[in-house]
Amino acid sequence: MRGGIIYILNICKYNKFMIDNKAFYKLSYGLYVISSISGGKKNGQIANTVFQITSDPARIAVSINKQNLTHEYIKNSKLIGVSTLSIETPLEFVGKFGFKSGRTTDKFSGVSYKTGESGVPIVLDNTASWFELKVEKEIDIDTHTVFIGKVLNSELIKDIDPMTYAYYQDVKRGKSPQTSPTHIANKNNPVKDMPKYQCSVCGYIYDPAVGDPDSGIEPGTLFENVPNSWECPVCGVSKGKFKPLV
Ligand code: FE
Repeated sequence: MRGGIIYILNICKYNKFMIDNKAFYKLSYGLYVISSISGGKKNGQIANTVFQITSDPARIAVSINKQNLTHEYIKNSKLIGVSTLSIETPLEFVGKFGFKSGRTTDKFSGVSYKTGESGVPIVLDNTASWFELKVEKEIDIDTHTVFIGKVLNSELIKDIDPMTYAYYQDVKRGKSPQTSPTHIANKNNPVKDMPKYQCSVCGYIYDPAVGDPDSGIEPGTLFENVPNSWECPVCGVSKGKFKPLV
């Protein structure tokens, strides 16, 4: 009987906990290209969990999914390149490093980069600043590893606002917030109520009011009028992979 009461008390205690997924939306992040090297091969990927841990010496933490090729490379070489993307970064560039695998494509093809003193590649395109890290510690967190790296070199390339994850999600991917200049500019646009289309592969939303200026599609272009040669600016699939957003 006594055990039963404790059991009920425990249930009540644990019921006080509740995870509201929307709470996570208020965490803020940047958008970065994380690069590494292994056996002479280089790879890079997009990550948003990059943050400075200490200042003297300067250390930066980077969280990477264990399934990613870049994770394997970092584990092998203990070297990391971090490029902070600027707010002007086109979606195609994010898609190239974010939605394609280095196992099947050379992500550095056509991309401007340099080789750091340690040998790690550092992406320069659309980069506001970069860091070259030597991994000092690794923390195993189930699906991810948090790599803590000492900063070997760093440089501010362009004094421009960095891309934030929120800006990327809300503005660059077409889900323009009401406070954005894009939204205000389109207030009286006759296409603002026309259907949006969503990529079935990566979730990118094509909004006719916003268009895809990075690919030459002007704001105000209905999805039907987008050329068939147009590809998803994030993951690169064809227009046919888009479905009306209901
Ligand atoms: Fe896509």
